[in-house]
Amino acid sequence: MIIVVRLGDDVKQFAVLSPGFALEICPLCGEATLRVWDWYDRLVPCTGGDVGVRIKRYRCHRRACRCLITVLPDCLLGGAVYPALVRDIGAEEYLSGRSTYQQLAQAIGCSQSTAWRWMRAQTRQAGPWLNTCRRWLADLGLGVGPLVLPEHMRAVWHSWRIRAEGMLEGLLCAGALGEWVETLRDALQRARGHVLPGGLWASGSHVLDRLGLAPPHNAERRVPP
Ligand SMILES: [Zn+2]
Repeated sequence: MIIVVRLGDDVKQFAVLSPGFALEICPLCGEATLRVWDWYDRLVPCTGGDVGVRIKRYRCHRRACRCLITVLPDCLLGGAVYPALVRDIGAEEYLSGRSTYQQLAQAIGCSQSTAWRWMRAQTRQAGPWLNTCRRWLADLGLGVGPLVLPEHMRAVWHSWRIRAEGMLEGLLCAGALGEWVETLRDALQRARGHVLPGGLWASGSHVLDRLGLAPPHNAERRVPP
């Protein structure tokens, strides 16, 4: 089981705060029987250089439970090398028309194919995440505006010769998504008093993917992940 925790706004803050953080209560059996089982250290590429973080796993010592829990900071994505924020910055650059994949890859220090895969993944996720936002915002009594194609992007996308199937529709959704996600995040935080991950990829992977599986009835009473 993976538990996502919020310790600071980014990987650097997580690296500073995580040594003082310990999980004690087992989320499955509710007993204070969790102990650190093992850990691994990884280097996360960030602006200004790599940051070392320790990812801990906990084992419940209650014999009837014995569950194993990995604690993942909300600024990281499961199985991904780069932090969520780097993908957000890259997507913003691309969606605004300021950078091509090549320029993006150079600025971030990743390969061009990685930059392409990120944007492809984002255009595929954008529709489902947008629908989840729409459903939950409607349940919270908030409307959402129409999808509008920024006029200057028509020429940019045309010059970039975007032809992959569903890519243009995905880019249109992805361009609108950031604002919707922030609106939903604010509304959920107000309704529940929790602090949820900021940014598109952290919100999408850690919150929207779970909300998408849940029917949005009585959202005020539903506890977010
Ligand atoms: Zn347990």
